[in-house]
Amino acid sequence: MSEIPKRTRVVIIGGGPAGSLLAHLLHLRAIDSVILELRTREHVLERVRAGVIEHRSAEVLRETGVGKRMDAEGFVHEGVNLAHAGDMLRIDFQGLTGKHVTIYGQTELQKDLYDLIDADGIPLIDAAGEVHVEGIESDTPSVGFENRGAAHVIACDFVIGCDGAHGVCRDFIPRGARWSFERQYPFCWVGLLSETPPVNEELIYASHKRGFALCSMRNEHLSRYYLQGPAETTLDEWPDDRFWAELTARLPDGVADTLVTGPSIEKIVTPLRSWVSEPMRHGRLLLAGDAAHVVPPTGAKGLNLAISDVVYLVDALSGHYDNGSTTGLDEYSERALARVWKAVRFSWWMTTMLHRFPGLDDDFERRLQEAELNYLFGSENAQRAMAENYVGLPH
Ligand SMILES: Cc1cc2nc3c(=O)[nH]c(=O)nc-3n(C[C@H](O)[C@H](O)[C@H](O)COP(=O)(O)OP(=O)(O)OC[C@H]3O[C@@H](n4cnc5c(N)ncnc54)[C@H](O)[C@@H]3O)c2cc1C
Repeated sequence: MSEIPKRTRVVIIGGGPAGSLLAHLLHLRAIDSVILELRTREHVLERVRAGVIEHRSAEVLRETGVGKRMDAEGFVHEGVNLAHAGDMLRIDFQGLTGKHVTIYGQTELQKDLYDLIDADGIPLIDAAGEVHVEGIESDTPSVGFENRGAAHVIACDFVIGCDGAHGVCRDFIPRGARWSFERQYPFCWVGLLSETPPVNEELIYASHKRGFALCSMRNEHLSRYYLQGPAETTLDEWPDDRFWAELTARLPDGVADTLVTGPSIEKIVTPLRSWVSEPMRHGRLLLAGDAAHVVPPTGAKGLNLAISDVVYLVDALSGHYDNGSTTGLDEYSERALARVWKAVRFSWWMTTMLHRFPGLDDDFERRLQEAELNYLFGSENAQRAMAENYVGLPH
């Protein structure tokens, strides 16, 4: 267990991908930090989540020494496939944009980050509860918390909230100084992980009258599949047999015929929502990643936004410590939110185009959905726009 310091430059609340990448990148700029993580290390390292790393995100990981295992074990994907009305369309990322994405599980990335943090000697205090901050409107904030039965306070220059969608940090911004924007979708995703070979080398996003389906993977032996389910569904309603039968029904025949099924090793139900909390800075408190914004997983943007926020934050904090500049800090929220909203738009667009909205079949919106898919299938320009967003807009 790390010794708990009394003072550091930056206290990072939350040791997920945003918090741990931030600590490592600050260490590379000789800025010391402490990470406070609510859960145990083991719990964080077991969570199964995202898997698609954008082109620029992968470059950032590589340039900062995080990407060795990603490069050795990840899979470069130069396109994705869309299935609709019995047809398959391949969106050729490489041909349309000259870029690609890398398939590498968030669980593996988290392991790599914790290994680096340990090697860097950054204190990672896990099982840190009851986190509260003082003085974020002053130049001398502090963070109090409990750890294994004892109370602690760390004095610092900055507090960074990387505590995810259910975190507490954004609530430290006074009510009158923050705004949130939200869209709830009337369905969820049921996800299944199985030790079976993926049905296809690249991801397949399927629009079907029974609902959306996604065929994804972690490696040649580990497949990740998702199905659109009703908003209030529970895991009990999705025994493996039902899941596989429903997935088979939603895939084009040529694909369904080659699907290898097997026992699930993990299953989840994930609600879908788009949500942004603004601003991402108040005084000496700055937010990054899911602590400030959540997108539906349809466009694979959540983890990638956490990475771009961190890149902007490191610029801002380096400017402060290297030459006393406040420009990066002053512009952080606006800069990050400009990119966040483009990803919110893209994830909303993919979600809206590919899912069945209960109650909307056969009406005006259903026709628009058909028109959107037909346009995409028939227009290289539309495909280029999708590819440009999917591989990731520049940081
Ligand atoms: C089930 C699921 C599936 C997903 N699938 C995808 C996908 O396919 N593609 C994609 O791009 N994205 C996906 N995402 C989103 C992606 O995983 C997140 O965007 C990403 O984890 C964001 O990283 P983060 O570090 O900002 O937040 P998190 O990963 O949520 O990390 C926040 C950390 O803060 C800790 N914490 C919370 N509260 C406190 C507190 N009070 N004090 C201290 N620590 C605290 C948490 O324990 C956690 O470790 C998925 C998310 C979930 C939940």
